[in-house]
Amino acid sequence: MKQIAIYGKGGIGKSTTSANLSAALATRGLTVMQIGCDPKRDSTRMLMKGTLIPTVLDLIREKGEENLTLDDVVFTGYSGVRCVEAGGPEPGVGCAGRGIIATFQVLERLSAFTEDIILYDVLGDVVCGGFAMPMRKGYAQEIYLVTSGELMSLYAANNICKAIARIAQNVRQVCRLGGVICNSRNLPEEEELVSSFAKSVGSKIVAYIPRSSLVQHAELHNQTVIEFASDSPLAEEYRLLAEAIISNTEFIIPVPMEIADLEQLARSYLPPMTGMV
Ligand code: ATP
Ligand code: MG
Repeated sequence: MKQIAIYGKGGIGKSTTSANLSAALATRGLTVMQIGCDPKRDSTRMLMKGTLIPTVLDLIREKGEENLTLDDVVFTGYSGVRCVEAGGPEPGVGCAGRGIIATFQVLERLSAFTEDIILYDVLGDVVCGGFAMPMRKGYAQEIYLVTSGELMSLYAANNICKAIARIAQNVRQVCRLGGVICNSRNLPEEEELVSSFAKSVGSKIVAYIPRSSLVQHAELHNQTVIEFASDSPLAEEYRLLAEAIISNTEFIIPVPMEIADLEQLARSYLPPMTGMV
């Protein structure tokens, strides 16, 4: 069993990438469970025909933890992907980690971790202790960062590298960085910039996902791109990502960049300002 986590800045494309990755892995014949670790609970929506499934935390509140069965918390989506949403506290109260820990406890009790691939989709803007929980508790062993070439997105990716490096200091923790997924914002030389960033922290790009309105078309049909347009070049990119993750053997403890160096790197890829308004 492989337990992987997708981290990245808010809104960068983690859930889109996760759902397409899960769909690609499942259509390739692997059994997959995707666990949304975001209080928004929209991680698995495109795998579930647009439905927001109940969260584990809500179900605990409703039925009591000890009364929950596997059928209450795990929902089968596209191509058999098993979908779970951890949920979170009411906005403004409590810690996001609570939903994540409670979900782990429930899934452990129900012996739910049986798939070839367990994929965690985790908000990573601020790597507070709560959101780092899948790494800290030893569930997420292989971390993939989603970033574009935008500075704020690289900045968040670098912060997650800091969290991995810190957690990996504990010899009992097995979490390592598997690579960087470039989810494009159509910036000039974006792949080169993200690749330079990945190299600087000691890792590599595992996929370049182009910016494409096909993502929105699929979304508006409540489907992943893999389901909606399986013959498209974009679906092929998600399948290549799936292959890269399956065959990956390079897992490292990242060396985060100094902020000044990261800014200098981003600056060095800026196009000239001529003609700009
Ligand atoms: P959050 O941090 O809020 O959970 P997220 O990182 O999970 O956000 P998504 O919800 O996957 O981000 O994506 C945000 C938006 O970006 C979505 O509306 C999606 O349609 C769009 N998007 C993601 N990837 C692409 C892409 N490759 N091409 C075009 N649009 C994309
Ligand atoms: Mg998301």
